Amino acid sequence: MTAALASAGGPPVRSSFLPFALPGIGEEEKREVMEVLNSDWITTGPRVKRFEEALTRYTGAPYAVCVDSGTAALHLALLGLHLKPGDEVVTTPLTFCSTVHSIVHAGGVPVLADVEPDTLNLSVEAAARAVTAKTKALLPVHFAGQPCDLRELWELGRKHDLKVVEDAAHAVGAAYDGVPIGGAGDAVCLSFYANKNITTGEGGALLTGDSDWAEEARLNALHGMSRDAWKRYTKAGSWAYEVVSAGFKYNMTDIEAALGLHQLAKLDGFTRTRRKLVQRYRDALAACSFVEPLGEKPGRSPAYHLFVVRLNLDRLTVDRARFIEELKAEGIGTTVHFIPIHHHPYYRERLRTSPASLPHTEEQFPRLVSLPLFPRMTEADVDDVVEAVQKVGSAFLR
Ligand SMILES: *Cc1c(COP(=O)(O)O)cnc(C)c1O
Repeated sequence: MTAALASAGGPPVRSSFLPFALPGIGEEEKREVMEVLNSDWITTGPRVKRFEEALTRYTGAPYAVCVDSGTAALHLALLGLHLKPGDEVVTTPLTFCSTVHSIVHAGGVPVLADVEPDTLNLSVEAAARAVTAKTKALLPVHFAGQPCDLRELWELGRKHDLKVVEDAAHAVGAAYDGVPIGGAGDAVCLSFYANKNITTGEGGALLTGDSDWAEEARLNALHGMSRDAWKRYTKAGSWAYEVVSAGFKYNMTDIEAALGLHQLAKLDGFTRTRRKLVQRYRDALAACSFVEPLGEKPGRSPAYHLFVVRLNLDRLTVDRARFIEELKAEGIGTTVHFIPIHHHPYYRERLRTSPASLPHTEEQFPRLVSLPLFPRMTEADVDDVVEAVQKVGSAFLR
């Protein structure tokens, strides 16, 4: 006989709430931030340059442009496509809204193609079916940190003369066929948001091998002002600059880069810890009849950004919302990645995407729950989550 559910007055699995994600900022980061604050140069400067160099070394990407969010990196990447009115970009419905906003802000038309049911990554077959004469690019998301079928997407791109812009917000630290994400590909966008695999508080980067794309992004990240305009207040700089485009204010600060430098140095360690925690989850849940982890494909080294499970709703008498409420009562924080893009009013009205055209997304979405996963978590924390999942699931087994 298991204990009563916490929602029914029983003792919760955890008395201290376990959030779904927490940042991992160490003393090195704090010291470096203090050095910046004491240095009289707190905005874009030498540390941003060092962080960009470190990102190119880590990923193998020839160029890195650091900006103040992953969203900004996506916008700058999409601007580099020089879309004309009516030009289409094929992307996934299972993503954060800013992936798709970036297409709209760059003047394009988003076209949603279905995901693979087992990995929740963009289906190459569905993407191929969505390509028209107006398609200019593919915008896959490496969902939960598992790399997409890049070889097939690049092949599809070559066939139709399309660029492939990768939303790698979940995938810094991942590799595909032994090559780090960002080290190959047309344009790859990273996010350093607070709960991402490495964080600068807010931040992001555009990685590319195309020097024109990188140069244009750099200009557009700082008002369209001529190169190294940030130096204009230093002794090395000059008051003179030219504005060559109606750019944006997307530059990363040295305070953020100070965090990023140390976070990047710790990334491989973070990824190893994430992998270990995911393996513990997988082993513990392998025999569980009402949850099913995502599938993994060979040849990928995922970044394990999220641990997403699918509820087998036909085995349960409750829906996902109730399952999440019950886990919360047991002291476990979870969330959902993602509410499909075409479910949001703005895109529902604009895109007129029929849910029937995205059957796997529609079928998987009501089942999705992201369980806690972050490097500061312990194996005992994983065991608590598993215990809570088992407790709630057993209480509502059909
Ligand atoms: C976090 C995230 C973004 C946006 O990154 P920000 O740094 O928060 O702007 C974009 N796409 C996906 C898939 C994300 O998870």
